[in-house]
Amino acid sequence: MKIVDIKVRNFLTTSRQVKDSDGHSHPGERHKVRQSLLSIVADDGSEGHCFAPPEVVRPHLINGFVRTVLIGEDPLARERLWQGLAHWQRGSTDQLTDRTLAAVELALWDLAGRRFGMPVYQMIGSYRDRVLAYGSTMCGDEMAGGLATPEDYARYAEWLVARGYKAIKLHTWMKPVSFAPDPRMDVKACAAVREAVGADFPLMLDAYHGYSRTDALWLGREIEKLGYAWYEEPMDEFSMSSYAWLAANLDIPVIGPESAHGKFHVRAEWVKAGACDILRTGVYDVGGIGPSLKIIHLAESFGMNCEVHGGGAGNLTLCAVQKNGRWYERGLLHPFLDYDQVPDHLNSIPDPMDEDGYVHLSTAPGLGEDINFDYINANLV
Ligand code: MG
Repeated sequence: MKIVDIKVRNFLTTSRQVKDSDGHSHPGERHKVRQSLLSIVADDGSEGHCFAPPEVVRPHLINGFVRTVLIGEDPLARERLWQGLAHWQRGSTDQLTDRTLAAVELALWDLAGRRFGMPVYQMIGSYRDRVLAYGSTMCGDEMAGGLATPEDYARYAEWLVARGYKAIKLHTWMKPVSFAPDPRMDVKACAAVREAVGADFPLMLDAYHGYSRTDALWLGREIEKLGYAWYEEPMDEFSMSSYAWLAANLDIPVIGPESAHGKFHVRAEWVKAGACDILRTGVYDVGGIGPSLKIIHLAESFGMNCEVHGGGAGNLTLCAVQKNGRWYERGLLHPFLDYDQVPDHLNSIPDPMDEDGYVHLSTAPGLGEDINFDYINANLV
């Protein structure tokens, strides 16, 4: 088999999410947004697909790097092709990011799964075919009845429990919210949710990502008292020493890194430095499924759990092939949005959750995205 074409379809789909000036998503009016579908085509007619934001698969990247590395090559040689792209990153003057590597690598997995008629998680070797989800809230806002007060979080937590979630992670208030960041408000929200869901319900906090060491330590000690299950990214992750210091001063498990660049290399450094108690990876953070597997296995080798960051078919696949992780991150969730609503460009969502809080893996060949090709082809731009 040889790769003969790389296609990018840009299309319009409907969204009810808007981004604030710091890039956080919030509910908004229905509007059209651009989305892209990357497709890799082999000479036997096999195809693999991955959705991506348009800038991640823009022509400069596809023509300059992806085609250069992939055309004429065996699509099953995922590791060699990934290494070829990773090698190009340094010479790309930071243009070729891990996000692009992830889109290409996920499309290669999807191609292989479709070619051999098997879900990707079964090709890798499954550990489970369903995984418990935690409800991951959007960042706080200032919308009446939204996520504007600690009481809003508490009320929404009760709704999430009734929906079936067996754990909840709060993203609290961040800039540009007028009163953010404020660790005292974070604690109020965490305490209100604890009060609402009871003492034994697993809760996590992903706080403002730029606190000082002293604010981060104070906040960590407060949610430790509230029995929170993990403490995520309260400081800039580029300072690994700050996390080693924080983890040494807290009993609550510190989880990370999520946004620090450097794939498995930087995560090995975090483990060595004692900068986290639970490791973190996500397909879009480190360049795909292959590099994430290296990180999951690295964590397992050190007796650590590795929790998967973010949702979608690729991240759900990771959750299905690991023993040393407990949750799938489902979201981002908000009282004004219906997460279970199927987007125009899909026939069904990739992460359906039952009333017991389990997300079930798709048995369809490939990554499990149920793509509505008719809609996409009718809405090209
Ligand atoms: Mg996070």
